Amino acid sequence: MRTRFLLPLAALLVPAALAAQNRVDSAQVAASEAKIRVAIAFLDQTWAQTFKTLGRPYVTPRVVGYDDFVLTACGRVSGMNAYACSLDGTISYNRSFVALLMAKTARAIGTDGDMGAIFPIAHEWGHAVQHLLGLDYSSAVDRVESDADCLAGSAVAEADAEGYLQPGDLAETEYALGLVGDAPLVRGEWGKMIESINAQAPLGSVPVLTNARGDHGNARERVAAFHRGMKSGARSCVLGIPLRPGG
Ligand SMILES: [Zn+2]
Repeated sequence: MRTRFLLPLAALLVPAALAAQNRVDSAQVAASEAKIRVAIAFLDQTWAQTFKTLGRPYVTPRVVGYDDFVLTACGRVSGMNAYACSLDGTISYNRSFVALLMAKTARAIGTDGDMGAIFPIAHEWGHAVQHLLGLDYSSAVDRVESDADCLAGSAVAEADAEGYLQPGDLAETEYALGLVGDAPLVRGEWGKMIESINAQAPLGSVPVLTNARGDHGNARERVAAFHRGMKSGARSCVLGIPLRPGG
């Protein structure tokens, strides 16, 4: 008798518990917004400096957090998303989405989890940098996303060098990348082989095939791209990518 009642009750409770894990409250959103404001100031300052070193003109991206949707020159941006529009230089992100990444990262790592919210912004800033530099990815489409992770990594290395990183920030970044990585295309030995070939490829080469069911790379590939940027810097991330004609 008991189990008969327990089963439907469990079926009701489990999805509710899962739903609660995937929601954030206004305090959590406010906490991640505060972290993002600090990160925006840092990212702007560090990229302005990098562009100065490169001798390229820099324009500060407009960063917009949205709850439901936002209209950009590239169209309507909505859902659990973050997006950099090349037409008007905006970076838009769903405030609950990044707050949720921060909350999940905090739970998993036992820290404030702030890199869970900051990394998506740093990644989109990487796309803004690609646009501002006038890079032409038409012959290297597979590199657009991993180069953005790499550029974000180079900015995090700058933050580290300037003493901005807290203990746990790198573990948080790796965990958060695991949450947003694509599913692997193939698992097992073949999958590992593809990933190791790409990981050992010289800087500036174009991956023949990434092991991911999507454009961003699987969790391990995203972490590898992030570390490449941390280690070798912004210039290495976009090595071999030509400028757009007239760019
Ligand atoms: Zn991207």
